Amino acid sequence: HQKPIATPSRTKEIVNKYGLSFKKSLGQNFMIDSNILEKVVTKAGITEDTAVIEIGPGIGALTEQLAKQANHVLAFEIDQRLLPVLKDSLSPYSNVTVVHQDILKTDVSKFIQENFQMNQEVKVVANLPYYITTPILMKLLMDPLPITDISVLIQKEVADRMSAHPNTKEYGSLSIAVQYYTDTRVVMNVPKSAFMPQPNVDSAVLQLKMHKTPPVYVEDEPFFFELVQASFGQRRKTLMNNLSRHFKEQLSKEEISEVLQAIDLDGRRRGESLSIEEFAQLANALYSYKN
Ligand code: SAM
Repeated sequence: HQKPIATPSRTKEIVNKYGLSFKKSLGQNFMIDSNILEKVVTKAGITEDTAVIEIGPGIGALTEQLAKQANHVLAFEIDQRLLPVLKDSLSPYSNVTVVHQDILKTDVSKFIQENFQMNQEVKVVANLPYYITTPILMKLLMDPLPITDISVLIQKEVADRMSAHPNTKEYGSLSIAVQYYTDTRVVMNVPKSAFMPQPNVDSAVLQLKMHKTPPVYVEDEPFFFELVQASFGQRRKTLMNNLSRHFKEQLSKEEISEVLQAIDLDGRRRGESLSIEEFAQLANALYSYKN
């Protein structure tokens, strides 16, 4: 009866056995606290029917806890050196499939079709490599995948920005991008001491529940996201200022004013005060005015 992989002693033992070094360039900070991981798995709502996608299994710390609760775990790991390690450390579990893949270059929906049953509930649970947190999450959200929700351990600062509300300093285009696709909240804080090696920053578990339909109607998605980015362009400037600067080739100040007035939005406000509904309304009005 072995201790969990997510313990300082087992992690050291595995690292020594294989002469592994932690690759900072791949964001390798392994979890060494199995109590925290159990909580992560519980909060993710994993049941014996759930199919789980994991990104970056490392030496299997989280994979093991998932394997105990889930129906099937499909894990994508970029670091070739870890494949024999995982084969060994996860040998007690028959419901784990590890694939040697860069998640950013993976057709995840193809893997879902090939590995999971039709209509099976699919969730993503991962301790993400911090250097590509945003690209990974945006890929999962935009692909689009047949998943119900995503629970990820990420840098706390990024988790706070993704789940931020208007009129806070964390609120920005990243909050809107993520909240357009999901209901987003921080469910747990995780101290640096839960990792080996310890990162320099605090972490948190962010839970993203996919919307069945977007919370707002948007005429043209690329234009909506362009407008949101432009509105936060220079945070201290007014909406009017940021918009006239960004759209100067296409729209005059007078024209922008006219659109703002038509939807009763005060151009002296700052981007950070607008809700996702207000951004959608503004994007749709500007879009039809332009076209
Ligand atoms: N899940 C393990 C744990 O909790 O201990 C390891 C988490 S560690 C923060 C991130 C893992 O992601 C590492 O194993 C790293 O090799 C892997 N990784 C980094 N970039 C990746 C990519 N593009 N695709 C798949 N895995 C990646």
